[in-house]
Amino acid sequence: MKKGTRLIHSGSETSDQTGAVSTPIYQSVVFAQTDATTYGQWVYSRNGNPTRAILEKTIADLEGGESGFAFSSGMAAISVSLLLFGVGDHIIMSRDVYGGTYRIGQELLPRYGIEVGFVDAADIKQIEGSTRPNTKALYFETPSNPLMKITDLRRTAAWAQEHGIITICDNTFMSPYLQRPLASGIDIVVHSATKYLGGHSDCLAGLVVTSNKELAERVKFMQSTLGAVLGPQDSWLIMRGIKTLKVRMEQQQYTAALLAEWLGTQPGIAEVIYPGLPGHPGRDIHLSQADGFGGMLAFRLKDGETARRFVNGLRLITIASSLGGVESLVSIPSAISHSSLTGEQGQQAGVTPELVRISVGLEDPEDLKADISQALQSIRGT
Ligand SMILES: *Cc1c(COP(=O)(O)O)cnc(C)c1O
Repeated sequence: MKKGTRLIHSGSETSDQTGAVSTPIYQSVVFAQTDATTYGQWVYSRNGNPTRAILEKTIADLEGGESGFAFSSGMAAISVSLLLFGVGDHIIMSRDVYGGTYRIGQELLPRYGIEVGFVDAADIKQIEGSTRPNTKALYFETPSNPLMKITDLRRTAAWAQEHGIITICDNTFMSPYLQRPLASGIDIVVHSATKYLGGHSDCLAGLVVTSNKELAERVKFMQSTLGAVLGPQDSWLIMRGIKTLKVRMEQQQYTAALLAEWLGTQPGIAEVIYPGLPGHPGRDIHLSQADGFGGMLAFRLKDGETARRFVNGLRLITIASSLGGVESLVSIPSAISHSSLTGEQGQQAGVTPELVRISVGLEDPEDLKADISQALQSIRGT
C-alpha cells in the first residue's frame, strides 16, 4: 500500500461491529468486567482506551514501527522518552531543538541526575566528540527547529548502534508522510501531533513510536504510570487530521518552496533557510532520507528591531508560535518558542532576534506573497 493510501486506511480495520466508517469515540473511563477476578482487554482508560488504541496503531503503522503511544501533548511524549533514563546517565541533545525540549534538557533532567550535553547534531563529529562511557541516548530533530539543520539519519543510527546508544528523533516537522526515521535505524520517533498530524491548530497531542520491544514496554509503563494520556475525543481529532495529511503537506510544501525561492530575491532579506534551496548545506542528505522538504521556512532580516516591525506589519499571516496548521503562522523564535535560551545560548545556536520563522499554510500563494511584500515595504518606508 502506498503512503497516501495508508493515511486513509491505517487503523480503519479496527472499527466496531456497526460498520461505522469514522472511528467510534469511546468516551468511557472504565470498562465492565464480566467476572470479579478476571480482566477483559479494556480496563481503565489511563492504561488503554479503544479510541486511543486505534490512533496508536495508526501512527505505529505510518512510521513503520511496532508500537505507538499517544500523549496529552508533544511535551508529554518527549518527557516520557527522556525519562526512560535515570541517575548517572548522560544524554546528548541537539542545541537546535524545540524550546520546550531544550528546557527539559537544560533544567529538568539535571534535577534527576541525568547529565545533558548539547551539540550541533548536524555535525556527526560533534556528536562523537561528546560521547562518554555513560552516554545512553542521543536526542535530535531533522530538519531542526528553527534552523532546518539536517542530521544524517543512517550514519547517526549506525554510530549509535555501535556504541549501544538509543537514538530519539523528533519527526514533527516532516510527519511520517515525508520521513520515517525508524527505517534508517533510529530507535524512537516522537511527535508533537499538535502540528502537521492534527493539522488544524485545534488539538494538543503527542506520539511516541518504536519497534524495540523492550523500549516499548518501558514507554508503556511510563505512559500509564505518569498518566499524561490523550483523551478519546482528541485521539479522534488527530485521526481525522491524519486522513488529509497528504493533500495538506503536498500543498504546504509546494507553497513553502515557492516562497523560499521568491524571498531570496526580495530586498532586505539577508538569508533564507529552507532545506530545498540549492545552497542549503544539508539538502543532499535530506533528499536521501526524506520524500520532501516540508512547509517550514525561516529567514533573517537586518536586525531584531526590523524583524519585529516586519512581523507586526503582516496582516494575513497570523503571529502565533505554532506550526503545521492550515493557516500560515509567523513567529520570532528567539522571542517566543526559544526564549528559554539565554542571549549567549541563542547566539551559539544561531537563534537570534533577526530570525523569522514561517509555517506555511493552505492560503493561495499569491495572497501570502502580497502580505509579505506589503510588510517588507512598510519596514523599508520608515
Ligand atoms: C510544538 C513542538 C513540540 C512540543 O509539542 P506540544 O504539542 O506543543 O507539547 C515539540 N517538538 C517540536 C518540533 C514542536 O514543533
